[in-house]
Amino acid sequence: MTDLKSKTLPELTDFLKSMGQPAFRGKQVFTWLHRGVRSFEEMTNLPKALRDQLAETCVITAPTVARKQVSALDGTRKYLWELSDGNCIETVLMQYHHGNTVCISSQVGCRMGCAFCASTIAGKVRDLTPSEMLDQVLFTQLDSGLEISNIVLMGIGEPMDNLANVLRFLELVNHPDGLNIGMRHISLSTCGVIPGIRRLAELGLQLTLSVSLHAPDSETRSKIMPVNRAYDVEELFDACHDYFQKTGRRISFEYAMIDGVNDHDWQADLIAQKLRGMPGHVNLIPLNDVAESPFKPSRRIEAFQKRLESHHITATVRRSLGGDIDASCGQLRRKAMLEQAKKGE
Ligand code: SAH
Repeated sequence: MTDLKSKTLPELTDFLKSMGQPAFRGKQVFTWLHRGVRSFEEMTNLPKALRDQLAETCVITAPTVARKQVSALDGTRKYLWELSDGNCIETVLMQYHHGNTVCISSQVGCRMGCAFCASTIAGKVRDLTPSEMLDQVLFTQLDSGLEISNIVLMGIGEPMDNLANVLRFLELVNHPDGLNIGMRHISLSTCGVIPGIRRLAELGLQLTLSVSLHAPDSETRSKIMPVNRAYDVEELFDACHDYFQKTGRRISFEYAMIDGVNDHDWQADLIAQKLRGMPGHVNLIPLNDVAESPFKPSRRIEAFQKRLESHHITATVRRSLGGDIDASCGQLRRKAMLEQAKKGE
């Protein structure tokens, strides 16, 4: 079966032409798909024969809500979606003053192995298709009734490990006949897969690149992030400088503060040294406790922030939303998986 929603508008137009249809059908079908219809029957401006023909050979992906949690504190919504093959992924909707932001997943699970992260514990199951990424935005908007203006690719998975599908998703979600979300309203976060960063730099997209730094020195970073053994942080800083040179876009560095591991003053000094010549921004994140992890949240966040600022590095402490609903990366899926396993015992 053909996954129609993963096709770009030119591809969809060609596909329909190959079925003997006029060119304008492409845009009609594209518009319906990007409005979130679940069946071809709903595409009322298509001839009945064409709707039947499409239903025989094509699918319209649409996840179902497996669980939904709404924070009583701040209205943050967390969705656990069940995909057509039974796999589950998470999406979080956060309401900020600057607009509603969805945090979407790019893979079912993750194979990057960061020691503090819940998403990677059971490894990667598969990549998400472009349509499955788009559906997270589409159906979160439809279910919540809240218009989404910003997207962050910071949910489950490593976007650079599924880059072809991610790039196609970006083209879809950015399209004027679709959700039309501007590149400047999209952030993509990577644990530091250098070839992906270089590829994005070449493409010169106007999105915001976030790099999960978490330690500026090789020794510490290799301990908590296995990706550092393949792509060392020294080369990562080089790639970031090149990225800034090529795109002129300021990079945002994510830094989850871990007690006694990455919260020393000398590490703040080293970050400042490595970012010299580039207007970076450091986002300090209070570590979310993951039951399986030995790490504890740092008590030095403010001191570390001051130290960075003394070197004229802008550093903000991320406001935590949805604290009452397991709203951080991979936690809800992990919980559901554990409960499922318990039931099976
Ligand atoms: N794979 C991508 C995007 C997904 S993770 C990446 O690594 O950037 C989104 C962010 O949450 C990353 O910065 C990640 O390092 C961070 N994160 C993961 N587990 C965390 C935890 N327990 N506490 C705080 N931040 C965490």
